[in-house]
Amino acid sequence: MTNVLDRAASHAVTFLRALPTRPIAPTATIGELQHRLGKPLPETGLADEIVIDELVRDAEGGLMGSGSGRFFGWVIGGTLPVALAADWLTSAWDQNAASNLTAPAEAVVEQVCGEWAREMFGLPKSASFAFVTGCQMAHTTALASARHKLLRDRGWDVEARGLSGAPPLRILTTQNRHESILRAARLLGVGTDAVVYVQADNSGRMSIHALERALRDGEGAPTVVCLQAGDLNTGVFDPFEPACRLAHAARAWVHVDGAFGLWAAVSERHRHLLAGAELADSWATDGHKWLNLPFDSGLVFVRDAAAHRASFAQDTSYSVPTVELRNQKDWNPEWSRRGRGFPFYAAVRALGRSGIGGLVDRCCRHAERLVREIGRLDGAEVLAAPVINQGLVRFLDPDGNHDRFTDQVIHRIQADGVAWFGGVTWCGQRAMRISVCNWQTSDDDIDRTIASVRRALAC
Ligand SMILES: *Cc1c(COP(=O)(O)O)cnc(C)c1O
Repeated sequence: MTNVLDRAASHAVTFLRALPTRPIAPTATIGELQHRLGKPLPETGLADEIVIDELVRDAEGGLMGSGSGRFFGWVIGGTLPVALAADWLTSAWDQNAASNLTAPAEAVVEQVCGEWAREMFGLPKSASFAFVTGCQMAHTTALASARHKLLRDRGWDVEARGLSGAPPLRILTTQNRHESILRAARLLGVGTDAVVYVQADNSGRMSIHALERALRDGEGAPTVVCLQAGDLNTGVFDPFEPACRLAHAARAWVHVDGAFGLWAAVSERHRHLLAGAELADSWATDGHKWLNLPFDSGLVFVRDAAAHRASFAQDTSYSVPTVELRNQKDWNPEWSRRGRGFPFYAAVRALGRSGIGGLVDRCCRHAERLVREIGRLDGAEVLAAPVINQGLVRFLDPDGNHDRFTDQVIHRIQADGVAWFGGVTWCGQRAMRISVCNWQTSDDDIDRTIASVRRALAC
């Protein structure tokens, strides 16, 4: 039985060792991958070792090098070896983390990690939490708690009666919100028509005056204000303190999308950006981005633990949990689930608070340098200098078609294989987004990346 495991571990280590020298972009086309992997449904089985060897062979060229220190696309982050090791154990232990009865060690670890995270982020001690698949489900969990509380305050039991006939909810946010907020609104039956966009200032932060007006316009309506800690393109943070004050005066619920930006709380240099965020009612973040845990790993916190629990707790006669310990199923949207506590636990123990702060600061320093030095190249222009680890540049076409040229240069950089960036439309123009959130990115990676961008501009 163990042969196949040794084999897989050896393939995995070979892949990781080669990552710094492999091209970052996939080299196989979808057609090639379909041809290799698209086998007919097997009637009889094969030996385990053959299955694994062939999987590795056939997936070759179809793997994005997003774990590399020179991957700067989207906000993905790599995997710390210690977290990967704990994740391997998680799979081997095969615990069903639904409850403290089926997975006692995982339940204890989640309790410990939830408290650690609350402390790292400076959130209220009374806030409840859940380890979910990612920020998408963290939003959904938080907004379900908000829905419960806002409607209960108006005499409506949404868990029993549903939304039909309930006072309609509103979500106030800016155009910069992540799409996952909209999907949470869809999943919860609130609907995207309930989203009202509040104007942002020039830097992309929610305008306090506009928020004040929007709150006044919908006076009395159950309202959630969704703020951002770390915009995907520029890394800006909404003005939490005044926004929370206004929202709470209007009996609104404040939710913070801190998918990666909440981690700035662990850095002494960047913590000030989150001033007032602790006043909110719920917070969502990811472990699989800046903490560099393997997928999938999200985390949600809710100030009103009773509202959180009321939205998810469900008793069963066949699984009566230990009462001395928090039971995951009371706080999570999933039933059977993976133990996401172990990799989180391993990463935080291996880095410590100072190591995590150091990781955040290092990424911010690299992002600042990438944007500054790319911006100095002939034909490049900085659109947004990073507030933390995200920034934007574009490339200027001598013939004036900057959008097309920017996409062309991005494509050339990807084809060069040294680094990887993606494109985005920002304020009506095409831009190259720069995101640094990998634990391994080094000064040498930045040097090599800038050289590759210079080559792409020169050809
Ligand atoms: C990545 C991201 C999300 C979505 O998170 P998932 O973990 O992919 O579900 C939400 N908001 C922001 C700001 C993000 O960067």
